[in-house]
Amino acid sequence: MKVVLILADGMRPDALDGITEMQEMQKAATYCLSAQTVMPSVTLPCHMSLFHSVDPDRHGTTTNVYMPQVRPIAGLCEVLTRAGKHCAVFYDWEELRDLTRPGSLAKACFRSGRVLSYPVSDAELTDEAIRYLSKGEADFTFVYMGDPDATGHNHGWMSEEYRNSLRRVWRNIARIRESLGEEYTVIVTADHGGHGRGHGADIPEDMTIPVLLCGTPFAPDTAIEGVNIKDLAPTVATLLGVTPDPWWEGKSLI
Ligand SMILES: [Zn+2]
Repeated sequence: MKVVLILADGMRPDALDGITEMQEMQKAATYCLSAQTVMPSVTLPCHMSLFHSVDPDRHGTTTNVYMPQVRPIAGLCEVLTRAGKHCAVFYDWEELRDLTRPGSLAKACFRSGRVLSYPVSDAELTDEAIRYLSKGEADFTFVYMGDPDATGHNHGWMSEEYRNSLRRVWRNIARIRESLGEEYTVIVTADHGGHGRGHGADIPEDMTIPVLLCGTPFAPDTAIEGVNIKDLAPTVATLLGVTPDPWWEGKSLI
């Protein structure tokens, strides 16, 4: 059993209609298109909540500037590494380098979306992730793609440009999925949505995210309700046979 978690920054579930690659994964997945993220619905706080399974007021990062934790909670990669698992991260937004603590990664791959542009860096990360995953070295691999968020800020959420960024992201997701064997369970999600040219508010457009879980033990073509971004760390740990940290607030979806 191995797990790949792919996160598309700022991907709204109600913008995914008509994307073939998304529909194909949905048919094979247990999914929730009304999952909720945390407040503030901002990239680094939401990622910290995904990896630490607590709200931002508990982990302490409430803006895109990382804050060392006052009462530290172990993150997903720390918990997995302690249990003898190997973790890998691929990302193109540099602030995510603080998502894991030193000593908890077997592999990290960074491309700068700011320098390369996110469509280019997302595609390069996809190539790198496929190459790395083919070696089967990591138990848990996180792949982040920044294109939809950058496009949303530049052109507006739900604009044609934004929808095109989601089509690009889903082509990358499909390429990764096609490269993987049966031993992989793939999770696709987002950190937050967006409206107008931004996000961060406590409104459905910003707070609602998709969660798709595909592979053992998840049933195909099955909708579920009541999913929160904090549920993903305990779900990944449980998939890999590792006990979730007692301080985590989310629930395993298994
Ligand atoms: Zn974001």
